[in-house]
Amino acid sequence: MRARFYSQGEDHYKLDPDLKAILDTFAPGLPQEELSAFGKLVGEEVLEVAHHVDQDAPPRLQMHDLDGNRIDRALLSPAQKTLLEKLRPMIRPAYEGRGWPLHYAFGYLLADGGLYCILTITHQVAYALHKYAPEHEAVKRELLYGPAFGATWMTEIQGGSDLGANRTVARREGNAYRLYQGDKYFASGAGLADYAIVTARPEGAPAGPKGLGLFLLPREVEGRLNFTVRRFKEKLATRAVPSGEVELEGSLAYPIGKLEEGIYYTLENLTVSRLANAAAAMGIAKKAHLEALFRVRRRTAFGKILLQHDLIQHDLLEMRLRQVGGTALGFLAIQAFDQAWEERPPYSEGYHLARLLSHLAKGRTAEHASAITALAMELFGGLGFLEEYGVARWHREALITPIWEGPANIQALDMLEAILKKRAHEPFLAILGESPRAQAEAHKILRKLQEEGPWYAKEALRALADAVTVYALEKVAAEPFPELAELYTRRFLKGETLPPSAQRPELYDPWSSLS
Ligand SMILES: Cc1cc2nc3c(=O)[nH]c(=O)nc-3n(C[C@H](O)[C@H](O)[C@H](O)COP(=O)(O)OP(=O)(O)OC[C@H]3O[C@@H](n4cnc5c(N)ncnc54)[C@H](O)[C@@H]3O)c2cc1C
Repeated sequence: MRARFYSQGEDHYKLDPDLKAILDTFAPGLPQEELSAFGKLVGEEVLEVAHHVDQDAPPRLQMHDLDGNRIDRALLSPAQKTLLEKLRPMIRPAYEGRGWPLHYAFGYLLADGGLYCILTITHQVAYALHKYAPEHEAVKRELLYGPAFGATWMTEIQGGSDLGANRTVARREGNAYRLYQGDKYFASGAGLADYAIVTARPEGAPAGPKGLGLFLLPREVEGRLNFTVRRFKEKLATRAVPSGEVELEGSLAYPIGKLEEGIYYTLENLTVSRLANAAAAMGIAKKAHLEALFRVRRRTAFGKILLQHDLIQHDLLEMRLRQVGGTALGFLAIQAFDQAWEERPPYSEGYHLARLLSHLAKGRTAEHASAITALAMELFGGLGFLEEYGVARWHREALITPIWEGPANIQALDMLEAILKKRAHEPFLAILGESPRAQAEAHKILRKLQEEGPWYAKEALRALADAVTVYALEKVAAEPFPELAELYTRRFLKGETLPPSAQRPELYDPWSSLS
């Protein structure tokens, strides 16, 4: 029965030959059977449960138990609980020596902002402990292998982008700290997380971001609640993850690594979630793209199936270019991170390059995803606007991707910092050497950025992302990627129209190679 999604019951990896071509290029040798099994789990169970949770059963906050004790627990639908345990293995590959691309490929296939957020914030805690607090190995194992969940709480009511404005104070108590005046205002995983990593300023530390330390905050200490959850937010999307407001007052927390390096660990952690954001953005877009591909084969208008109309073919080509461009950019950035992730501060050139690519990928994939999902809705006509079916929800889900993990202006400013202070553009230009047109364009953009500074930074973020996307697409040898690279250059790097010669099924229809 395909009551809500055409792709229900399908193997979502098999439906996506473009993803395979991109993974074969940037992460060769990934286990095909595992990806296919995951693709089937997505088609068979994830679609249904994610939609059910979004529409009928979002997490609820239970504040008291029967005896009147505060428990501040998120109540999840039993279907969501069961599914989360089936999904948990996807967070393990990097910690088991299997690298990051497999994890992010699963994230792309999962393509649910709420479910993937729960899993990402869980392994982000594991990441911080793995790298900087090995004394908490047992907690790391609980997170990776169950039953614990994690969370990353940085944002406070007075500022998310402006992390240096954090007001939470950390007061030393033996080997641990107590956190005071903490109002973690956007706390995903609230009520669910057993452990969170939080930013706080140790007493006496300087103002601004460099004075922040990173701490491990358990949900309970000696059987008692260690912090309270004021409420859950009502959200446009990502409803599967409870996002709440957390109050810290005398909450016990353990320092992670060197407190004076807390901001570096926090930014590293943000790189992990920005890449997840990029993978998920393109995965969400792909879900809508797949629905559109099914739809235009079935619906008839003016005596022809939609797929046969010139303008539909143009729409599909536009969609495919954004889809392959964003996905190739995302997995190029993931490949760079995979090579550098074990570094510790002070970082090498390779790490700074990975960080620069993560800003470009985070910013541009969010734009592509919002555009693709909007076009998919339009291709569904009136049905696209109904909550009953998948495409409307995927557009709602796509709209978070530009905001969390830092909006585009913040990515642009961080990119500028990586260029000015870390000279990350030098290895960036070096890799673009393989693509003269991408490199020439990047030189132009960087010159203008030097002249105009922050005024031009957001446009530079997009333009540099498009230049490196062309390079990434050129690296994919499978047909018709060389032509798709050409068309991406025309459409996005030069801002030209798509030529009539591109009106060919092998270009606008990713499934033409499957039939
Ligand atoms: C559903 C959801 C879940 C979230 N979960 C978490 C979580 O678990 N943990 C967590 O820590 N946070 C979480 N957040 C918070 C999120 O990361 C922040 O909302 C986001 O980083 C933006 O911060 P802000 O809301 O303070 O916006 P602001 O910083 O107020 O930004 C507003 C606008 O101003 C722009 N801006 C800000 N500074 C500058 C500047 N210097 N120059 C130019 N433009 C600027 C921004 O780009 C943005 O467009 C969540 C948010 C949402 C919506």
